[in-house]
Amino acid sequence: MRRKLAAGNWKMNGLGADLAELDRLCAAHPAPNCEMLICPPATLIHRAATLAEGTALRIGGQDCHAATSGAHTGDLSAEMLRDAGATHVITGHSERRADHGETDAIVRAKTEAAIAAGLTAILCLGESLAERESGRTLDVIRAQLSDSLPEDFSGETLVVAYEPVWAIGTGKVASLDQIAEVHVFLRSQLLERLGADGDLIRLLYGGSVKAANAAEIFAVPEVDGALVGGASLTAADFTPIVTAL
Ligand code: PGA
Repeated sequence: MRRKLAAGNWKMNGLGADLAELDRLCAAHPAPNCEMLICPPATLIHRAATLAEGTALRIGGQDCHAATSGAHTGDLSAEMLRDAGATHVITGHSERRADHGETDAIVRAKTEAAIAAGLTAILCLGESLAERESGRTLDVIRAQLSDSLPEDFSGETLVVAYEPVWAIGTGKVASLDQIAEVHVFLRSQLLERLGADGDLIRLLYGGSVKAANAAEIFAVPEVDGALVGGASLTAADFTPIVTAL
């Protein structure tokens, strides 16, 4: 059975004082077969991982470079994230695709680098509002998936997060039918590519998930958890999402 995952993405939020939220979160007890993860800004990864040691909380990065080392000022390799205590890394978040021009090919290279460094990659994809409104959602998802999936991956090394761009940070949640349609489609694509092993890849939904809507989203077919932005910033908001898994 696939493990459930509640993953928080702090984005460009969080100073040392906010580690107190992680300290509170460490007291949360995910149900058996459920995991919780926070991806703080890179500046906090080492301190967060030290604080979370011995608890159920895992710490991840929000991005990594595709190369292992070299002349890339300001970038971080997957190996550096792992060395700092990260177990996971988000790749291909729509904000990186938009703000940093990340293409599917770049996302794929980053995802491969993450897996090679021993991290679990959380590969994000999702359609824009214009793509949805023109009826192209599944075509966009099919193309993003096939162009950004790494060469080699398994249920241990890869998680796929469906995040409709129009639902991120907007308070507009996709309807349960819209979530189900894309998740069932993603599962069928993974089964086509991997055979029965396609059933082992966890699929997260992301986009304005909060305590009030988490349980109904987690009950949607093929939803194995959530990638949460705003509602992951405090333990008070994130703990009920973890316990709803
Ligand atoms: P949100 O962000 O929960 O604030 O909508 C989700 C995400 O970007 O992963």
